[in-house]
Amino acid sequence: MSMRGFIARTKANLYFKLPFHNHILNIIKHRRFSGLYIPKTIHIEVTNFCNARCTLCPYLKMTRPKGYMPWHIFEKIVDECTQIEGGGLKIILHKDGEPLMDPLLFKRIEHIKTRLKKSHIHFNSNAMLLNEEKADSILNSRLDSITFSVDGASKEIYENIRQGLKYETVEKNILHFLKRKKEMGKEIHVTLQMVINKDNLHEVDDYKKLWGDKADRIFIKKAHNFLVQKTSFQGGVLGEKQLSRCMQTFYLMLFYWNGDVALCCWDYDNLVGVGNIEKGSLLEIYNNEKLTKVRNAMINKNCKDIAPCNICSQIYGKDGPLWD
Ligand code: SF4
Ligand code: SF4
Repeated sequence: MSMRGFIARTKANLYFKLPFHNHILNIIKHRRFSGLYIPKTIHIEVTNFCNARCTLCPYLKMTRPKGYMPWHIFEKIVDECTQIEGGGLKIILHKDGEPLMDPLLFKRIEHIKTRLKKSHIHFNSNAMLLNEEKADSILNSRLDSITFSVDGASKEIYENIRQGLKYETVEKNILHFLKRKKEMGKEIHVTLQMVINKDNLHEVDDYKKLWGDKADRIFIKKAHNFLVQKTSFQGGVLGEKQLSRCMQTFYLMLFYWNGDVALCCWDYDNLVGVGNIEKGSLLEIYNNEKLTKVRNAMINKNCKDIAPCNICSQIYGKDGPLWD
C-alpha cells in the first residue's frame, strides 16, 4: 500500500474507531470559544425513497412525505456548514432511504468537496443498484468511505430480512465494486455492515469469513428498536432503569430531505419536530430549546420524561455495536 493509501485508510479508520473521543474534544473546544454546541457530523438525507422493505427498519411505518432533497435546501445546509467546518466535518449522505436512488448524488458530492475542503463524505447503501456504471461513478467521485449493508451470509436469511432485494445481485455488485477499486487504485474505505437479531445471529462467523479479507472493515451491530415499541429487537422488554447516556445530540445533526431536523439517527419520522433549516440557521436550531432539553436530560442521566428517548433501546437496553 502506498503512503497516500496508508494515510487515507488510517484517517478513515479513525473516523469510525474514535468517533466519541474526536467529537468530545471538539465539543469542549467549541463550547469554550463560543458557548454553543457545534455538530461535527452532519447527516443529509438526499432521499427517503427506498427500493427495499427490510424487516429491521421502520420504513413502512414512516408517515412523513417521501422526496428528494431540493437543491436550494442542500445548498443552504452546505453553506452553513462552511461556518463551522473547523478541522473538518463528517458529511453523511443518508438518513432513511437509499442514496443510490438520488439522481443528484454525484453532483452533491462534488459540491460538498468544493465548499468543504476538509470534509469526509460517507454514505450507506444496500448495494442493490450498484451496477457497473454506478460503481465506476462512485470510484471516480470524491466520496471518502462507503458502507454496504448486508444483513446475512446466505440467500435465505438475507432475503428474509432485506425484503425486496436479491442476495446474488448484491453480492455480485459488491465483489465487482471491490475488484474495480483495486484495478483503479482507489483509496475509498469500504465497510461491510451486518445488523443482527435472533434470525441472523448464527451467521456472524460465516459473515466474517465471507467478507473479512475483502472489506476494509466489518461492522456488526445489534438491531435497535427504532423507537417504535418498548422492546428491543434483541428480545425482551426494556427495563425502567436508564442504563447509559447517549451522545448523539452532542455531535450529530441530521437533516431530512425537506430540511426538517431529526432528533437522532433513530428518529425516522420527525418525532420531535426540532426545526427546519429554511426557517432558521443551523446553529440556532442546534442550540434551541428542544435539543437543549434532551441534552440536559442526558447529562443528568434522567430521560424518563423525555420522549422518544424514554423508549430508546440504546439507553434502556443494550443495543449498540457488537463487533468492529
Ligand atoms: S435499505 Fe435501509 S432504508 Fe431501505 S428499508 Fe432497508 S434498512 Fe430501511
Ligand atoms: S437516547 Fe435514543 S432516542 Fe434519544 S437521542 Fe439518543 S439515540 Fe435518540
